[in-house]
Amino acid sequence: MSSDDPTAPPRRRRTRLVHAGRAPDEQFGFVNVPIYRGSTVLFATLDALEGGRQRFGYGRRGSPTYRALEEAWSDLAGAADTVLTPSGLSAVTLALLTVAKAGGHLLVSDGVYLPSRQFCDGALKALGVETTYFDPLDLAGLERLFKPETSAILVEAPSSQTMEMPDAPAIFALARARGVATLIDDTWATPLFLDAHAKGADLVIDAGTKYLGGHSDILLGLVSANADWARRLRRMHGLLGLCAGAEDVFLALRGLRTLELRLREAERQGLRLARWLAARPEVARVMHPGLPGDPGHDIWKRDFTGASGLFSVALKPAPRAALAAMLDGLDLFGMGYSWGGFESLVVPFDVARHRTASRFEAEGPCLRFSIGLEDPADLEADLAAGFERLNAAR
Ligand SMILES: *Cc1c(COP(=O)(O)O)cnc(C)c1O
Repeated sequence: MSSDDPTAPPRRRRTRLVHAGRAPDEQFGFVNVPIYRGSTVLFATLDALEGGRQRFGYGRRGSPTYRALEEAWSDLAGAADTVLTPSGLSAVTLALLTVAKAGGHLLVSDGVYLPSRQFCDGALKALGVETTYFDPLDLAGLERLFKPETSAILVEAPSSQTMEMPDAPAIFALARARGVATLIDDTWATPLFLDAHAKGADLVIDAGTKYLGGHSDILLGLVSANADWARRLRRMHGLLGLCAGAEDVFLALRGLRTLELRLREAERQGLRLARWLAARPEVARVMHPGLPGDPGHDIWKRDFTGASGLFSVALKPAPRAALAAMLDGLDLFGMGYSWGGFESLVVPFDVARHRTASRFEAEGPCLRFSIGLEDPADLEADLAAGFERLNAAR
């Protein structure tokens, strides 16, 4: 690849996003790496088979398609290595298994994605790993929760659904001072909007299902590691037998080339809709760290270079039937899980039942929005009609 030339000037990120992981000269000049499918990889000689130096030796352990995305993501994330997994959740569980020890202890933010928490309570606990959840906004309280057995800490910034913004660099500094590994689920920002390794994260988790895919048609996870953790991460990935679907990886590589454009537009559209919602009389509060006045705004401004199009609102109190009238009749907003696609989505949420270390008080029903690429005026009209139904059914 031409970028291997050590005398070439350093390339800026937008340029790297276009070129990283591509090697047309190795693919007959074709611009994109194709989908390599395969289990068996042939060795020409006994020496090659026993020598362990052939670039690819078995389909599960690597292919040119996987390698292209791994290299490109490591480049963008400033990581020593990246491994791919079949879903975002398996990226979380791989990262946790890389740092967990029997008889050990994990600190996990109360605001993590619910299935991440269920893995700690449902699988790691049975392996003798204890988890303590911490209030992501209470640094002094967190300091008291470290134990001699604490091996790692996991944060998500901003928190799932409620969008509160922890001071991740400060949390990482507390952990590093105690020799504790630092993990972040960076799906909301992606490495383009949060340089998590530079801010002190050892392992950075991304659900590529969301913005990297960008079209609601793949499931993929990525874990990147700094030099301290790269070998242990890849080893655990191999031990678990994880590999992502080749077609999903191909689609992620395609998504990668436009990721910055799509994220910038998601930010613009998201902020417009968030402001519009904040001005509605039916809305009690908008939770979007990119909005001035949001409690997490100062940290967001300090640490992030952008916001994605995912945010939440708390409505003023409304009966369930009124909420159903609003949501059931939406024309453009789909109701469904996941986010980061080209289409706008909304889902109701209620964290009261599973958060244990922090309190989240909502005035009324809560909704999470993922704003897509539709004309925002049409999205506003769809929501305005929804609020009319809500008010009529009150
Ligand atoms: C969606 C999501 C995941 C899981 O991704 P899947 O591909 O659905 O398994 C993990 N973390 C966060 C923050 C997510 O939003």
